[in-house]
Amino acid sequence: MEEYLVQKNTPCVECQGSGYISNPLWLDFMEKYPPGALRSMSAEEYKLLLLTYKLVGEPEKLTCNACKGSGDFIILVGIEDVPMVQDILKRLAKLEEDKGKKTISAAKDSVAAKNDDIQKSYEDEFNEKFGLK
Ligand SMILES: [Zn+2]
Repeated sequence: MEEYLVQKNTPCVECQGSGYISNPLWLDFMEKYPPGALRSMSAEEYKLLLLTYKLVGEPEKLTCNACKGSGDFIILVGIEDVPMVQDILKRLAKLEEDKGKKTISAAKDSVAAKNDDIQKSYEDEFNEKFGLK
């Protein structure tokens, strides 16, 4: 069976589409030493601290592993999963429903009109038969 698929670009949930994630080593460090705590430190003390935490040369951001740095994923979805197509299908179903209601209403009117005609012809026949008209 043939199947039509649509390409969907979706932002990476791991990096929110940036392609990078914060280096967990730096996150741990910044949690222990918020910026305010570092300001009072001398350059020498700061360097020593970075050496202690093995952060010298360690990048603050890493390429996201989930998306390999692209920031998004390309996935294939069925055409019925495309929001625009879903909207069109919903509108078509509504049109069909409205058309169905109109058809039923017109049919009822037609039956009622026929019943009136039949009733009238019986009345005419009855009146004629008994000379009431
Ligand atoms: Zn990512």
